[in-house]
Amino acid sequence: MIRGSTELVAIIGSPIAQVKSPENFNAWFTENGQDLAMIAVDMAEQNLAAFIQSLRGWKNLRGCVVTVPYKQVLAGQLDQLSPRAAALDSVNVIRREANGRLLGDNVDGEGFLKAARAHGFQPDGRRALVVGSGGVGAAIAYSLCEGGVRQLVIADLDQPRAELLAERLCQAFPRIDIGNQYESLEAFDLVANATPVGMDGTGEMPLPGVLLETLSPAALVADVVTSPVVTPFLEFARVLGCRIQTGPEMARAQMGNLGAHMGVMPQDA
Ligand code: NAD
Repeated sequence: MIRGSTELVAIIGSPIAQVKSPENFNAWFTENGQDLAMIAVDMAEQNLAAFIQSLRGWKNLRGCVVTVPYKQVLAGQLDQLSPRAAALDSVNVIRREANGRLLGDNVDGEGFLKAARAHGFQPDGRRALVVGSGGVGAAIAYSLCEGGVRQLVIADLDQPRAELLAERLCQAFPRIDIGNQYESLEAFDLVANATPVGMDGTGEMPLPGVLLETLSPAALVADVVTSPVVTPFLEFARVLGCRIQTGPEMARAQMGNLGAHMGVMPQDA
């Protein structure tokens, strides 16, 4: 129950009804006897600056998770960004300090990697393919580089976008083989779909069938799409014998990182 004493965290986006974080956070707060609650905020873009200004003075609000479509626009309105949020120019969580300063981070990639590690994938020295170089793909790619992959290939229908991301990552991680070219999936230890392809039962695949046939059964195959839980891409991989990682697993894995940044939860929650 929300009382006068209850401290708040928020999740902001638009639309917001589809997000799962309020259920996950509020269940954790209740189970752990915390006088904390998460509220969902559907904010119009023209009022974002006023919202940010209100956050600075909102004394019983500890922080805010940021979702689509505001991850990039809000990155430019905070007082400080973590190195990875600055590199990605995107935030998915904000901490409000007692003096009203707002600090942004992006833990999408860390959540992805935490889930992957739970499936036995250790990035160090591995080869990975990330399909999709948008907000989430970039965050995953960045975390894989931080985790020490040997080779990273980034693919996107929007080829210039994928090339730009590869160039930026090459500058930040000059010792990693980062590019956009591949002819087969055979050598990849991890293949991740970071596009919305496969969402809501469309049945679409993020890669052509001829490439999918080259997937190694030893690979971890991951999807960021949360609905359906097992996308057609994951189903294909499962039938082939691959380990699979779902979008909800990534979302659940990063709850502790989001909560820790806001100061309301331990990292491993
Ligand atoms: P975005 O629009 O920023 O990027 C998507 C990218 O995918 C674009 O660059 C687009 O060109 C590319 N793309 C689309 N179809 C493609 C195809 N067939 N082949 C190659 N590239 C293709 O979107 P985003 O913010 O990165 O979000 C991507 C997905 O991640 C969404 O479905 C979102 O719901 C999901 N998501 C999941 C989690 C989670 O925790 N599981 C967290 C955040 C977002």
